[in-house]
Parts: sequence; structure tokens; C-alpha cells
Amino acid sequence: MSEAAAMIIELEKGFPETVARITQLAAKSGNSLETIHGGEIYDTLHCLGDTRQLATHIDFIANLPGVERVWRISSSYKNISKVVSDENKQKVSRAKRPVEVTGKDGKVRKFGAGKHIFVVGPDSVQTREQTTIQAKRIADIGDRLGVRDRIIFRAGAYKPRTRPTDFRGLGLEAIDILDEVRETTGLPYITEIMDHTLAEILAPRVDMFQIGTRNAQDFKLLEAVGRHGKPVVLKRGFGNDATEWFNAAEYIAIQGNLDIVLCERGVKTMFCKDGYNRYTPDFNVIRHAQEKTILPVVFDPSHAAGDDRLVAENFLASLAYRADGTLTEVIHNEEFRSEQQCDARQALHLDLFEKLVEATLEWEQRIAPLQAHIEGYFDARKAGK
Ligand code: PEP
Ligand code: MN
Repeated sequence: MSEAAAMIIELEKGFPETVARITQLAAKSGNSLETIHGGEIYDTLHCLGDTRQLATHIDFIANLPGVERVWRISSSYKNISKVVSDENKQKVSRAKRPVEVTGKDGKVRKFGAGKHIFVVGPDSVQTREQTTIQAKRIADIGDRLGVRDRIIFRAGAYKPRTRPTDFRGLGLEAIDILDEVRETTGLPYITEIMDHTLAEILAPRVDMFQIGTRNAQDFKLLEAVGRHGKPVVLKRGFGNDATEWFNAAEYIAIQGNLDIVLCERGVKTMFCKDGYNRYTPDFNVIRHAQEKTILPVVFDPSHAAGDDRLVAENFLASLAYRADGTLTEVIHNEEFRSEQQCDARQALHLDLFEKLVEATLEWEQRIAPLQAHIEGYFDARKAGK
């Protein structure tokens, strides 16, 4: 057996004693269990965390009544890996695992369930007025276009800045404003956490965390967010390869939190120096991440761009790459641009954002079926059909 093989158990429905026995064993080994209710016959028990100790009981578990199969995971990022091996070393693909965020409006936003999720808002909370105007207009767009259940508000309270003298966010004052805006609009919100010691304070308040590119390998932060069990958008470190990114997600998952959404936001390349390219968007990594992990994968068209025109172009391109959503920075009027303290040039006017939502809906209706046909050809070829 590989060193820290994680475990997935496929179980026939109707064996509560077996579930109780496995739950007991898992708890004793320090693992939690997540049950994914599958089809009519089977459920899947996903043993989370470091399962080395639990794995010593694998034969016992495999022989419990109702247990159909026990899978072990072979990749280095075991908790989030899509491909697992069964006891005969046959490769099996786990289903994608949607991540849900519920708003005060009672609507559930589901990343990775087939519909594009729009994460949108200003780079940061600067004033109550600016934040409220934006959130209300975003909620209106959601209502007008019938996609409220696909919209999540996002704004920074704690800002990672290259220069220590730049605006670094309003901190808890911004969190108060975001809480208010959630009450008035019903939209859930995402905000960045940079410091693991703040997890305890922020987790009960925010709907979803963001871990930014600079902290993508802050292992204490990843673990803290994992322990607090809040959904999280994990950006790719701009110097990280895909496997490092997946392993960063594994740091969260191994603490028992699988509510992770991966976000590609551009990487640093030798082509960033010419000035047309703040970072280089790695569109190709989207499908790779979707094939290697069970996590939803979204794309940030803003931070790679550096200017708003490119944001719109990047956004549209990400539809072709079948991202599960986007994370876009916006502005409510041109006058505010000179007052915006961070990422002003890349902020997309909300009127244009609305057009991009319309374009997404058109894409889903008209192009996505053709795209599925094209993809089907490649999938069938891969499966040897
Ligand atoms: C942001 O989302 O405002 C941000 C700072 O993003 P990144 O971590 O990708 O630079
Ligand atoms: Mn920003």
C-alpha cells in the first residue's frame, strides 16, 4: 500500500450498521467521513484526512456487509484526486464534487454543477457607498437576467500589496460593510483571508474565503481554512505549476474540508515584461485541473489582464475553455476609477459585465451543445470507442 493512501468506500444502500462501524473506525483514526449519495443502489463514503491508520483496517472494511468496493487513491493529492485505483489497480474516475454557497436570499450557488457561476465585485471595499451601489446593481443584473442563483459578490477587506505603503484594505471595517450589504441584497460574499490567525474571527462571518496567489502556499493559512470548514476559492500561485497548486488544495482537504474551488488567475512568464500582459493566463490548465481533481475550476480574467478591455476578452475566452465560473473585478462608474486605490485599470464597467453575463447565457444555449459534441469526439477516442 502506498504511504498515505486515502480511501473511498462504495456501499450498498440499507446497511446502517456498516456505516456506523466505518464511522466509528474513521473517528478512531482521526478521519471524518463524507457520504455522497449516489444512484439508487450505492452511496460513496469518502474518508477524509490522512488515512494511513484507517488503511490498516482495509480488509476488515472490505468484508463488511454491503461494502461493494474500496478504492485507494494513487496521486499525491489524494483527497481531491479524480482518478483513483480500485483493489485490482484498475483506474476509476470519481465524479466532480460541486461546491455550494447559500445566500441570505435562500438561493444556493453551485460551482461545478454545469452552470457558469459569476463571482463579481470591486477589487476592494473602499466605502460603504461604493460597495452598496455595486452589490445592488449586481443583484439587479442577477434578477433581470434570471441568474441571481449564479451570482456571488466579492470584495477585498485585507489586500495583499506589493508595496507596504499602498492601500491594504479596511480590514474588519470592510467586513462590517460586507455583512450589511449581504443583508440588503441577499447575495453571499467572498473575501480574501491572508492570515491564519484571523480564520477564527472571519469564518463565522464570511460566506466563502479566497486565498490569493501570494498566499497560495502559506501552509498554515491553508490548514486553518481547512479546519474551519468554510468554502474557499484557492487561486493558483503565480509561480506554481499545476501539481503544486493541487497539493496546496490538498492541504485544505486533508483537514476535512472539500469545499474548494480552484481559480486560475495567470502565471508569471518571460512574456510579462513587455507590458501587454500583467500575467499570462494559462487557459490550458483549466481542463487539466478538471481532469485531475474532483474540484470545480474557475477563471479570473482580471488579474492577468491589467486593463479592462483584456478582461472582457479573457472572460469570453474562458467560456470556450469551459471554466466552471469566473471571478471578475468591476467598477460602477468611470468617475470612481481615479479614486480606486487598487487594480483600477482592470476594473470592468458593470454595464459591460452585464453584457458578458448575457453572452454567457447565449453561449450556454447556442454554442455549448456544439462544444459538447466536439468534446464527445475526443472523449470517445480516449475511451477507445
Ligand atoms: C484579488 O483578487 O484582488 C487579488 C489580489 O488577486 P490575486 O491574489 O490573484 O493577485
Ligand atoms: Mn484585485
